[in-house]
Amino acid sequence: MVQVKAINAFSDNYIWCITDEQSQQAWVVDPGQAEPVLTHLKNAGLTLAGILITHHHYDHTDGVATLCKAFSGIDVYGPNDSPFKGITKPLKESDIVTVFDTQFRIITTPGHTLDHICYIHPALAFTGDTLFSGGCGRLFEGSAEQMQHSFDKLKQLPDTCKIYCTHEYTQANLAFALAVEPTNSDLIEHAQWVDAKRKNDEITLPSTIALEQKINPFMRSDISGISQNIPTEYQYKAKNILQNNEPWQNFAGLRAWKDHF
Ligand code: ZN
Ligand code: FE
Repeated sequence: MVQVKAINAFSDNYIWCITDEQSQQAWVVDPGQAEPVLTHLKNAGLTLAGILITHHHYDHTDGVATLCKAFSGIDVYGPNDSPFKGITKPLKESDIVTVFDTQFRIITTPGHTLDHICYIHPALAFTGDTLFSGGCGRLFEGSAEQMQHSFDKLKQLPDTCKIYCTHEYTQANLAFALAVEPTNSDLIEHAQWVDAKRKNDEITLPSTIALEQKINPFMRSDISGISQNIPTEYQYKAKNILQNNEPWQNFAGLRAWKDHF
C-alpha cells in the first residue's frame, strides 16, 4: 500500500504526495503550487511520476505546468469535462487509475464544481473540495441535489476508508457542526481533539468515513434531529424549491446556513 504525505500550500491547502519508497517515486494530488512540491521531492529524494487533479480551481491546478516542465512526460489525470486545459489523461465515472500498487476508481462528484471527481479505493480516497472533514465544499457550480448525490456515493465507502481532502478547514467546519448538533458527544469530543491539534499548528487529516458519519452534518443531513435544527429562513429556502420533502432539501438548508455562518 502506498504512503501518503501532506505538503502544505497556500494558507490552508494540502497537496497530497503519494509515495512509493521502493522506487523513490511520487504522485501528487491537486498541486495548486509547484514550489512546495519541488522542495518536498528534492528533500525526500523523490522523482515525480504523475499528477491527479480533482477539479479545475486554481488552488488545485496552478502548479501543474511547472511540474510538467520539471518532470517531462508525466501524465496529468483529471476530469474529462474540465475547463482546466492541462489534463493529458481525461477520466470519467468508473475509470481506474493505477498509482504504484494501488488502483483508484473514479467517481464523479459534481456540486462544488461541475467537473469535480474523487479518486477512491476501499482504504483511502482523495475527495478534493467535495467531502471535507466536518463539512463539504461550497456550491460554486452545482446544486445541493447534485452534492447530496455525490455524498451518497462517498457514504458507500467502507468505514475504515481514510479521507484525504484538500483543505485544513476542520476547525471552522466543526464550529458549524456544533451549531447544528450541540449535543452530539462524538462531535464534542472530536472538536476538542481538533482544537488541540490546531493550537500546535498540526494537521487534522486524514479523516475516515466512520468519523465523518459521526461528526459531519452533511453526511448526517437525513437524521431528523438535524433537520429540526436548521433555522427557518434556511429551511424555507430549501423547501421552496420542491414541495415534497426530498432528502437533499436538508442538505440544501444546511449548506445555505453554513454559507451565512
Ligand atoms: Zn475548489
Ligand atoms: Fe480548493
